[in-house]
Amino acid sequence: MPIDPKLPYDNENIFAKILRCEIPCNKVYEDDYALAFHDIRPQAPVHVLVIPKAPFVSWDDFTQKADDAQIAGFTRAVGAVTRQLELDEPGYRLMVNMGGHGHQEVPHLHVHIFGGRQFYHMIC
Ligand code: AMP
Repeated sequence: MPIDPKLPYDNENIFAKILRCEIPCNKVYEDDYALAFHDIRPQAPVHVLVIPKAPFVSWDDFTQKADDAQIAGFTRAVGAVTRQLELDEPGYRLMVNMGGHGHQEVPHLHVHIFGGRQFYHMIC
């Protein structure tokens, strides 16, 4: 079910638990601002999630509350992950689901990185 992005941050959401190492993840990358790990239900040959370490519910929350260092740090981390995965050539797709219409299911901001195959039009 999609989440309500207006709710306050839920410290018990699954990505908060991953950040606290209470449940495992298949880690790809970590720095001061972000953690990246393989999606548990991959929708492409490469499907990695990048999450900020700070508690932002959604993209909307992040763009309102993150400071400049957090925005820069998180954005650079996404780039670092795509380069580490050697996706820059031939390319990749980024996706952020936001709120109900975006069908966001986990209430901690995450950027999906899809790669490893040719993409065409929008994913349904
Ligand atoms: P979204 O619909 O954008 O909120 O996507 C949530 C994503 O989190 C889905 O692609 C799930 O497969 C993924 N996911 C949920 N739980 C885990 C987990 N424990 N480890 C890795 N990925 C997960």
